[in-house]
Amino acid sequence: MSERLERGLNTLRAQIDPEVKAYFSSCVHCGICAEACLFYTETGDPRYTPIYKTEPLHKVWQEEYTFWGKLGKKLGLTKSLTEADLANWEELVYDGCSMCGRCSMVCPVGIDVAYIIRKVKEGLAASDYSPEGLVEATQRAVEIGSPMGIRLKALQAQIRHVEADTGLKIPMDVEGAEYLALLSSMEIINFPEYIEALARIFKQAGVSWTLCSDAFEATNSGLQIGNSIIAAQLLERVVAGAEKLKVKTVISPECGHAFAAIRWDGPNFIGRPYNFKVVHILELLDELQQSGRLKTSGMETARLTFHDPCQIVRRGGVEAQPRRLLESVAENFVEMTEHGRMNWCCGGGGGVSANERAEGLRLKAFKRKKSQLDELKVETIVTACANCRLVMEEGLEENEMDIPIVGLTEVIAEHLVEDKQ
Ligand code: SF4
Ligand code: SF4
Repeated sequence: MSERLERGLNTLRAQIDPEVKAYFSSCVHCGICAEACLFYTETGDPRYTPIYKTEPLHKVWQEEYTFWGKLGKKLGLTKSLTEADLANWEELVYDGCSMCGRCSMVCPVGIDVAYIIRKVKEGLAASDYSPEGLVEATQRAVEIGSPMGIRLKALQAQIRHVEADTGLKIPMDVEGAEYLALLSSMEIINFPEYIEALARIFKQAGVSWTLCSDAFEATNSGLQIGNSIIAAQLLERVVAGAEKLKVKTVISPECGHAFAAIRWDGPNFIGRPYNFKVVHILELLDELQQSGRLKTSGMETARLTFHDPCQIVRRGGVEAQPRRLLESVAENFVEMTEHGRMNWCCGGGGGVSANERAEGLRLKAFKRKKSQLDELKVETIVTACANCRLVMEEGLEENEMDIPIVGLTEVIAEHLVEDKQ
């Protein structure tokens, strides 16, 4: 057995926890999860059936934990996991799964397929079967602090532009501020209007906030590639930044997997509870609005819809807040036929968009979002994840659909009462 395969096998064995055992032993092989997955529906290829993507871990579980698997192994009747299996599943898992969790919603016996797929990624990453784009992004995250290689100087340059445009000071390293705002690389480089929106909203609402020069990056490549040691290392930077500045709450930005990492998986990854709270920016905006601190006026008249980022809405539970916020500033808000926790993924989550090899498949998967949009005939798409936004911009361009996409925080900032005075 090669050293690479051994590493993969050992890591997969270590992933078999009570949940995985329960899930594998309760799967009734009904195949219902297939119809929930956009990589299956848009390709018709049965290899993209969600539970099939977990096969490397299933094989190991079968051999180690089932009577027939153990017997088969002893008698040499079953085929153990090979390097060829790992090579095949690398493409199926990294290119053909955005970790959207839609399959987990439909399974009649409650199997969280996405949870198992993430564990398969741990085995693939440990045996070096991961796509180049994600490996490089992860290296940059570890060495530079950001998967896109963004250094503090680049952020400071964007901050200078925002300060010049708004006349507002963007607070940095303010000890004792109530909130620490995190940013995603894509917001810093592609959508700095998010930083501007934060500054304007927080000024109006009187929120005490800061950025942290040691911990401004929210994205977590360790989670995407399936390396929990790196995921923990990246999270520790945020925790150290929040503790150093003694903030009460950390704000997760408009980025889906960043929210999953910092809000839900964080304490498990680092092995201890936080001494601060974590909220998503939409939760905070909703709270500020409900308490009367955030005041908006005027309504968008364009027919617009909301694309639910999977990790924020389906996996993260922030479903009602974006709707309340949108209703307050848009008179023509329409829902997609399947919306909220059952909305379809943009196709680029879970690291798929960082994996160039997956581009063709991702654009095929986007056809699902295209059909949802074709039905609606909207003039604007609103979302709350910079990655969804970029992936959808590319999909719309490829399909010659001229529909602008904006972030919800920016839409709210456009309607601040102070702007209307
Ligand atoms: S829907 Fe659930 S039970 Fe059916 S095949 Fe998929 S994982 Fe197994
Ligand atoms: S998590 Fe999403 S993309 Fe992955 S298998 Fe399930 S439905 Fe498909």
